[in-house]
Amino acid sequence: MSEAGTPRRKRFPLSLDDTRPVTRRLVGSHANLPASTSPTAAKPSPALPQVPAALPAAGHGLDSASFRSRMVDRVRLDGCQDADVLRVMGEVPRHLFVDPALVSQAYEDTSLPIGLGQTISKPSVVARMLALLRARPGGPSLGRVLEIGTGCGYQAALLCGLARNVYSIERLKGLHDKARENLAPIRPANLRLIFGDGRVGHGPNAPYDGIISAAGGLDVPQAWRDQLAPGGRLVAPVQSAPGSAQQVLIVVDRMPDGRWVEQRHETVRFVPLESGTRDHRPA
Ligand code: SAH
Repeated sequence: MSEAGTPRRKRFPLSLDDTRPVTRRLVGSHANLPASTSPTAAKPSPALPQVPAALPAAGHGLDSASFRSRMVDRVRLDGCQDADVLRVMGEVPRHLFVDPALVSQAYEDTSLPIGLGQTISKPSVVARMLALLRARPGGPSLGRVLEIGTGCGYQAALLCGLARNVYSIERLKGLHDKARENLAPIRPANLRLIFGDGRVGHGPNAPYDGIISAAGGLDVPQAWRDQLAPGGRLVAPVQSAPGSAQQVLIVVDRMPDGRWVEQRHETVRFVPLESGTRDHRPA
């Protein structure tokens, strides 16, 4: 079922006092590092988050608001015209989601390693996918959204400013735990983190107005199509042709009248959509 009505403007009320130092988080900044795990449950917290005006980062004295606004300018120049996407990108502190050693690159238009061989996409690509998601047949107001591949939690935080409820699923326990830790200072009340295999979607909260994947498979799993609401849209990287190493962005719309419409867009490069879950600890 699609959600009608005006989107509520989400804010990120976070005071600087609530913010832990950037150095406290991420284990392993580079590909294929094992991450420690902590078996705590993902619970939404009561308050909506707010971005601090400035945040000291690992001794860099980073003025995060001005870095973010320059990042937003670049994303706009890159072609993003969705004011709400630009707004949330100006609000969410991307540097909270990257390894302290990479914090100086947090606002560059570059993808960065987040541990366990995974990467956070570059801001212009994140913006492109979010804008595509909002351009769904049912209109830009998003009710429930499912994100496949929580990773470090950055895109999930952005989605929380664009949708009423966000469900984000991650197959690597180390990253699922890390995302929860990264998101703690922001405390999005409308986010639920799920540890599991996103190839089967997430049935309990279906249908979704939007499904967005940060990992690319050979094709779009049938479960994602099944869990899309009428008027809903799915955006994902997918293999461009059988046997090809290339990926393209695919958009699948479930039209309100029941028809299905698919569009293929530009070439992209995302991590693979893998099967099953992994809960490994460092050796
Ligand atoms: N949106 C993320 C991007 C993370 S990269 C961010 O902002 O950081 C893509 C993520 O997809 C990786 O963390 C990877 O582990 C995850 N992934 C790959 N296959 C998956 C699957 N079947 N189910 C859930 N997550 C998966």
